[in-house]
Amino acid sequence: MRPHALRSDRHWDGSPRHLARRRGLQIAPTSPSRLLRAGQTGRCRHCGNRIDWYPRHDDRPIALHPAEVATADTPAPCRWHIGGGIAHPHDDGSAWCRIPHAALCPRQPPRSHTGSTRLTSVRRELAVHSRRLLDTGAFTPQPHTHTPAAAPDDAGGSTRPVVRILLVSYLGHSPLEDIRCVAQTRQRRRCTHPLLASHHPAGRWRLLPSGPGQGQLTLPDTTMAVYDLSHLPYTDQLRWRAQRCPTHAIGTAPDLALAGWQVFDPLLHAAHIHTHLPPPSALSRDKDRR
Ligand SMILES: [Zn+2]
Ligand SMILES: [Zn+2]
Repeated sequence: MRPHALRSDRHWDGSPRHLARRRGLQIAPTSPSRLLRAGQTGRCRHCGNRIDWYPRHDDRPIALHPAEVATADTPAPCRWHIGGGIAHPHDDGSAWCRIPHAALCPRQPPRSHTGSTRLTSVRRELAVHSRRLLDTGAFTPQPHTHTPAAAPDDAGGSTRPVVRILLVSYLGHSPLEDIRCVAQTRQRRRCTHPLLASHHPAGRWRLLPSGPGQGQLTLPDTTMAVYDLSHLPYTDQLRWRAQRCPTHAIGTAPDLALAGWQVFDPLLHAAHIHTHLPPPSALSRDKDRR
């Protein structure tokens, strides 16, 4: 008799003896995007239809229609594809592609190049759905603004700072002290730490030329208050651009939100140009955090 012979991997009732250990989700070190897809869906604030947010190669977010569409039915300027979590503005040679929601949004004027029959019918379906949401009170549209939809509502008003990171000026989405880390914590929530950290070198408020926009009309020569990080080490500036607190500056923690920087454009963002440095109280508050 061999009571312990032929130990099977299963109990007598067929249930597995060894349960596979649950693995946490991880971001591949080579992934160009660390943004978790979970939580990156939303609703268009004009029509209420579902949208998926994706970062582009320059980190600016774009809202795509959640479903794929046959590439053959889609005009070339509307074709996008996702590679490594990043949205690219062309198809990838496959039979299916993604489309920016703006090209389909029933609350925006139709674009001339979206005249394909298939896109017209998708747009009509979205219009019907939008109507239903409005009729049932499930959605209230917001007025059109020129702010890209990705930027959270202009909560900071004119207190959105212009920050110079790696020689590029960005407009922050909220006051400097309120800009929060986008990384996911071990508790699977978004980190609550601010970017400004007391034990880390901080930027300096300076008056710098507002400069012309890339290839655009120039404004009269003005200087504006810029929170300049140019003197910080490269890694610190990268941390700011990735919108991560010192704890999450390195490591494999994924992002739960998109960084809120917009490349500063003196014409588009004229309302955020300040010709004077912030009052001393604000300056010392920043200094306290150094
Ligand atoms: Zn819409
Ligand atoms: Zn953090």
